[in-house]
Amino acid sequence: MNKPSALFNLAITGVQHSSPYIPGKPVEELERELGLTGIVKLASNENPLGPAPTALRAIQDSVSELTRYPDGSGFKLKHALAEKYHLSPSQITLGNGSNELLELVARTFLTPDLSVVFAQHAFAVYPIVTQAIGAKAIVVPALNYGHDLDAMLKSVTPETRLVFIANPNNPTGTLLAQDALEAFIKALPVHVVCVLDEAYYEFVSAEGQCDSVAWLDACPNLLITRTFSKAYGLAGLRIGYGLSSSDMADLLNRVRQPFNNNSLALAAAEAALADVDYLQKTIDLNQHGMQQLTAAFKTLDLEWIPSAGNFVTVDLKRSAQPIYTALLAKGVIVRPVANYELPNHLRISIGTAAENQVFIAALTAVLSDV
Ligand SMILES: *Cc1c(COP(=O)(O)O)cnc(C)c1O
Repeated sequence: MNKPSALFNLAITGVQHSSPYIPGKPVEELERELGLTGIVKLASNENPLGPAPTALRAIQDSVSELTRYPDGSGFKLKHALAEKYHLSPSQITLGNGSNELLELVARTFLTPDLSVVFAQHAFAVYPIVTQAIGAKAIVVPALNYGHDLDAMLKSVTPETRLVFIANPNNPTGTLLAQDALEAFIKALPVHVVCVLDEAYYEFVSAEGQCDSVAWLDACPNLLITRTFSKAYGLAGLRIGYGLSSSDMADLLNRVRQPFNNNSLALAAAEAALADVDYLQKTIDLNQHGMQQLTAAFKTLDLEWIPSAGNFVTVDLKRSAQPIYTALLAKGVIVRPVANYELPNHLRISIGTAAENQVFIAALTAVLSDV
């Protein structure tokens, strides 16, 4: 590596030691590289249906107001969410993607003297927001690829202020049992804030879904985060939300930028939230796609981590990087997860039946070549 620049040495230690988030490879980039179109991207857990037509109409209807600042309080969307969850609007925080909420909660509660607990293989944004502040990350070894809640509870120290739980987790898709999770959250000491990241909540089957919103009454330190990026198909607009006590929301609200959600995102999210047909279509498509992919893995004699999300992580039992590259050459983008300490796995987002088929054909061809 080159000698660090003088500027690099000025950065706080946590930032010097962190790595930037690695996004899925953009379709346009691969198109340029290969000089071909018709790329299949199953790499960022996006909704393969495209945005809901109702959301697109709401965007069109709002475009003429773009000269104005957005509603910085998110009045209409917060009221719609409050009604859906039987909460007060004062318990809702809107974010520029739910990622922003992860950052807000870190900036609200952490200093370099404090620590954060999260699991091995957990979502990459947890270490990023922790290191941006220079706080200490306590990474607890995974149990069957998922969160080891007992070990996580034991690793909390007097300096711990935050615990991140991803349920389901990305990139493993693992899901915690409702009673175990509830007991864990209720057992946390009062000096710890728990962030329950439910970015994939809508994809979880009815039996698997936690009624986490019901825990808010008893847990003033709980922040539940959800998003419009995944099941609601609006990843490009950047909008997510937090559900919490009013006290928690009040604190996060002090830290956020005054206009953190743009007006098109606010309008589209409100429309998408009301579009129950789109959500149901999304869930049905995901279930079929999950069956299609796992059946193919079985045929190919590959193991996968059972997933409750809109993606599945497959074990190739050898370095995944050459297979990822060979798939790229065939115009299929999936996600390597070596940065999650899973060098032999690839994460595949569930696409349309046709996209899944392109991936399955490409994987079959690649595996017969190596
Ligand atoms: C995708 C994802 C998010 C949310 O991303 P936003 O687009 O910022 O809402 C949050 N947590 C996990 C675990 C995710 O995979």
